[in-house]
Amino acid sequence: MSEAKMYVNPIAEKYSKDINGRVIVVDKSGIVKGDSNKEFLGETFRHKEIQNALNGQTSTNTFKFKEYGHVLYVAVPAIVQNRVVGATLLSISINDIYKDVNHIKLNLFFISIVCILLIALISFIFSGFAIMPLERFTKVINSMAKGDFKQRVEVNTNDEFKNMAYAFNAMIMKLDQVDKQRKEFVANVSHELRTPISSIKLLSESLLHQDEDDINIYKEFMMDIAAESDRLNNIIDELLSLVDLDKEKLHLNYKITYINFLLEKIVNRLKPLAEKKDIKLKLYLNEKIQIKVDSDKIQQAIINIIENAIKYTQEGGEVKVSLYSQGKWCIIEVRDNGIGIPENGLTHIFDRFYRIDKARSRKTGGTGLGLSIANQIVALHQGNIEVESKIGKGSVFYIKIPNDIKL
Ligand code: ADP
Repeated sequence: MSEAKMYVNPIAEKYSKDINGRVIVVDKSGIVKGDSNKEFLGETFRHKEIQNALNGQTSTNTFKFKEYGHVLYVAVPAIVQNRVVGATLLSISINDIYKDVNHIKLNLFFISIVCILLIALISFIFSGFAIMPLERFTKVINSMAKGDFKQRVEVNTNDEFKNMAYAFNAMIMKLDQVDKQRKEFVANVSHELRTPISSIKLLSESLLHQDEDDINIYKEFMMDIAAESDRLNNIIDELLSLVDLDKEKLHLNYKITYINFLLEKIVNRLKPLAEKKDIKLKLYLNEKIQIKVDSDKIQQAIINIIENAIKYTQEGGEVKVSLYSQGKWCIIEVRDNGIGIPENGLTHIFDRFYRIDKARSRKTGGTGLGLSIANQIVALHQGNIEVESKIGKGSVFYIKIPNDIKL
């Protein structure tokens, strides 16, 4: 064994134990001077990594051998005074590292699968939460389509769905109310129309079945029949004007009108009616007021209210009509000292067909539509009607119309 080998080999062997790998040391010609396995001592080693190291470059590579598995080769040049005098090749088994990497890869694969499943589950749950309120809306909409307006949408979240549910429920309540009013209206109309028709039928049948020679009895019955027919006519006329008002929202015939002249005209027209009951009908025109109104419609509203004042005031009573302005309002006040309206009736008198005393109102020819028509006309003029009343003392109706109607 040469001197170099004697010196180099034990170091190679010792170092090989330290790193648990093989150490091969070659001189600049590639002849093996040290081999921890003593296998290639003295042989020329032409391994690619060693060649690179002898050319001054550190090089690494990994190989897979059938018997050893994965091995890492590292070849390092030995440089003395800037000259390559040899090279060292370390070969270390990296099977453990590969095993670890594979293990980590497998773990990562399982973790990824678990994560994907978790994400899928969470998305499913959250999408369920998001869809749940929509399902509730759909359910309620479906029951509404079947005519059930009693259902409400319940949303317990604290987001836009909650606001939407509030708005939606308010809309159903309104629809429910409108639906009830519509049903009530149809029921009322049928009832109101049926009453005079039944009377006419009853009266005519009585006439048919009696052998009466007295012409006066016939006349009396025929007068009742004529009165019932008038009543029927009144109801139909008023119903038609209500329908017209519903349609006419957009095309009212606005014209600048002197309310003073209009009131004079109305009062003159109603005076005979008041005189029949010995009622004093007085007009107080405190100011000259001219505003934009549909004079035919407004006239109808005012007449309905003054006629009521006359109708519901005892003989010898008094009805005062006054005109004045208050801020932006033109006010027509109709004050009577008649029978008055009970407090619980005040909120209903503008409802269609509502009458405080049905029997009395029928006698006076009332249909229960007059105030509803008046109210609708004034509302179309962007105004309103207010009432104050005391039973037994009388009532005051304030017709308020703005003097700056926005067209
Ligand atoms: P009607 O055709 O029965 O008069 P309205 O709609 O004009 O119907 O009025 C509704 C109800 O309001 C009347 O039936 C009556 O009971 C009550 N009413 C209206 N105006 C007066 C009034 N000036 N004084 C007392 N009650 C009134």
